[in-house]
Amino acid sequence: MLNPNGVDESNILDSTNFDALGLNQSLVRALLEAGYTEPTPIQVQAIPKVIEGHDLLGIAQTGTGKTAAFSLPILHHLNAKQVESKARHPRALILAPTRELAIQIADSIKLYGSHIAFKQTSIFGGVGQNPQVAALKRGVDVIVATPGRLLDLVNQGLCHLGHIEYFVLDEADRMLDMGFIHDVKKIVAKLPRKRQTLFFSATMPKSVSALAGDLLHKPVNVSVTAQATTVDRIDQSVIFTPQNHKQLQLIHLLSDEAVTSAIVFTRTKHRANRVSLALSKAGISSEPIHGNKSQGARQRALGAFKAGEIKALVATDIAARGIDVDAVSHVINFELPNVSEDYVHRIGRTARAGASGNAISLCAPDERAFLKSIEKLIKLSISVVKGIEVRDEDVPPPEPRGPRPPRRSGGPGGGRGSRGAKPSGEQGGRHKSGGQKRRPASAVGQKQRPAGSGNAGRRRRSQAPKTA
Ligand code: AMP
Repeated sequence: MLNPNGVDESNILDSTNFDALGLNQSLVRALLEAGYTEPTPIQVQAIPKVIEGHDLLGIAQTGTGKTAAFSLPILHHLNAKQVESKARHPRALILAPTRELAIQIADSIKLYGSHIAFKQTSIFGGVGQNPQVAALKRGVDVIVATPGRLLDLVNQGLCHLGHIEYFVLDEADRMLDMGFIHDVKKIVAKLPRKRQTLFFSATMPKSVSALAGDLLHKPVNVSVTAQATTVDRIDQSVIFTPQNHKQLQLIHLLSDEAVTSAIVFTRTKHRANRVSLALSKAGISSEPIHGNKSQGARQRALGAFKAGEIKALVATDIAARGIDVDAVSHVINFELPNVSEDYVHRIGRTARAGASGNAISLCAPDERAFLKSIEKLIKLSISVVKGIEVRDEDVPPPEPRGPRPPRRSGGPGGGRGSRGAKPSGEQGGRHKSGGQKRRPASAVGQKQRPAGSGNAGRRRRSQAPKTA
């Protein structure tokens, strides 16, 4: 039975430290060294069941501690049953939708397994395959991979999956969204039938539950938040603004000192570049991160963000998957996603590891329809707050058209969005709450800004560092 926090109390042990979960002492030691004092709800529920050998269906967003929930019992088993063979075949396979997420998972596994003997390698595209092939030849126990490159290596006969005992499919919903279903199925066909499968997804639409049904055998179900609900600890708000005022609104928001570290979401790579450039010109350090950036550039941007060297990452949805930074104070939706579930994924980048967070969305008239469907999904009216007043002369000129295909008329939502939009009356700094909760002052967080600080970004333009 689920308690109000979404935790299945029948699975909770009396003592909630890692020892009580039945984990090997070397793992517990590594966790304590990493500063983990207590397991998270999904770890409490999942770890004992996975140690017992059950398949698992986990409905959990990133930020819940799900990576440790699947990695720890796998490492526990690998350690308990060491294989003394020269030709070490992989025994655990973890599939993730993006290379960033694969790298994050591999980093976590390295941390958790720092006191046990095992070998792992990561396999993903965008880099040369030779080092990955060499690692496989030397023998590995754990592979963390994205589907495309893994399948490529399997098809070349360079990676053998016939000894896999533990298979994890992480972020299954995203995997399907990204069109990896066929690759995943082909990979699964190469795995032994007798294996333990752990399946994680933030949301559970029909296509995902059908896949789970195919892959899992009598799974234990674990859910740490109700399906597609947003994390309680996130303070969500929306600012209604015309599209061409968004840059100034964003600069204003990011100039607030309450924003210590922000991920700004755009819908396209081109827009991510433009926004990051505009921020840099306004003196706000930022880097774009999206699929057109090389793996090295993405890792460098992420590293600078984690180290606090830049204030904002401007990301597209796909690139942001797997960004695992605990101290993101704000998520700002420069554009609302047209897929409502993406909103849930986006805002889950803040309020991680027990912290609280803020999510602010800039909503143009033609995005009202997106907002409506997001509110329907999360079963919540997002608070409307007022943005800054923008003077016409401050509005930047329209973006030059690049080589990309022209956008459909009616804005990013196409006809649907513009039909849902109201006429010009709702533009500018107007804020209609429409019966919704309305907060008076700052959209940014708890703090009030000193008078006049709204121009901070523009004032600083001349000192702009060239970071983008
Ligand atoms: P995940 O949901 O796996 O992406 O994990 C989110 C974040 O929580 C990561 O930064 C982990 O390092 C951290 N984390 C996972 N488990 C714990 C724990 N038991 N205590 C503290 N932090 C944790």
